[in-house]
Amino acid sequence: MTSSHSTTRLLAMTALMLFHQGLAMAQMPAQQPDAKSFTLGKLDIVALHDAQFVKPNDGKTFGLDHSPAEVSELLKAAGAPTDTITLSVDALLVKSKDGVVLIDTGVGGALQDSLAKAGIKPGDVNEVLITHSHPDHIGGLVKDGKLAFPNATIRMSDVEWDFAKSNKGVAEIVKIIADHVKPFKAGAQVAPGITSVALKGHTPGHVGYQIKSGKERLFDVGDTVHSSIISLAKPDWAVAFDGDKPEGEQNRARTLAALAKDHEMIFAPHFPFPGIGYIEKDGDHFKWAPSDKPR
Ligand SMILES: [Zn+2]
Repeated sequence: MTSSHSTTRLLAMTALMLFHQGLAMAQMPAQQPDAKSFTLGKLDIVALHDAQFVKPNDGKTFGLDHSPAEVSELLKAAGAPTDTITLSVDALLVKSKDGVVLIDTGVGGALQDSLAKAGIKPGDVNEVLITHSHPDHIGGLVKDGKLAFPNATIRMSDVEWDFAKSNKGVAEIVKIIADHVKPFKAGAQVAPGITSVALKGHTPGHVGYQIKSGKERLFDVGDTVHSSIISLAKPDWAVAFDGDKPEGEQNRARTLAALAKDHEMIFAPHFPFPGIGYIEKDGDHFKWAPSDKPR
């Protein structure tokens, strides 16, 4: 094994360990590249598949203050397996006459192959927008110890960049990307037609990205939600991934209510690929309505 391979492996392993932060390890099945595109006004949007995590339903991730049996009930009602919870890890590409913008980079799984399927070379990416600095969103910024997108400016909120620099678990990635990071204040417009939106609770500087072209809109919600089943059926249940759980719960409930009311199209990086669709109100909670736009 070459040293670059071991670096990649080490990064992937660090990423996985951090993703679980002391929780039970997930299985990581073979990662298959996939890319699905559609147009949004004058923009070309591509959802890109990176990885898939299969987590045991052991009460350590979802419904921390509830039992695995209660989680099983929700999974069963949705027709999903009840002993595991599957989360996709995906990224979003926005192509316009102004350039190529990638939002999040996955854990370093199949993303590069998915980009190739979409006809994009790593050097074509002008900007990488990061929702937050967890390894399943920034892991793909680095490949073989080098920048994976050599011509890209890397953008994240100033608060999130400070958080990343203080997090030993991502020190290797931070070192490699540091000279290419251009932080912004949450709420700022970060690219033509793309505005950042503070979404509190998950990490200190977590943001979503509102993408607009003409009358069409798409909102990348980052990690406001994780499971298309549990996060929507029980937005007020604590999830282990949220750094500030009460704030995460409040943000989730508030954001989901607004998205349902406005019938806003969203991209959710951990929902079943391609993760494009709508939040619908369902009694006192919500449900996922995938869009049939992506092809
Ligand atoms: Zn995540």
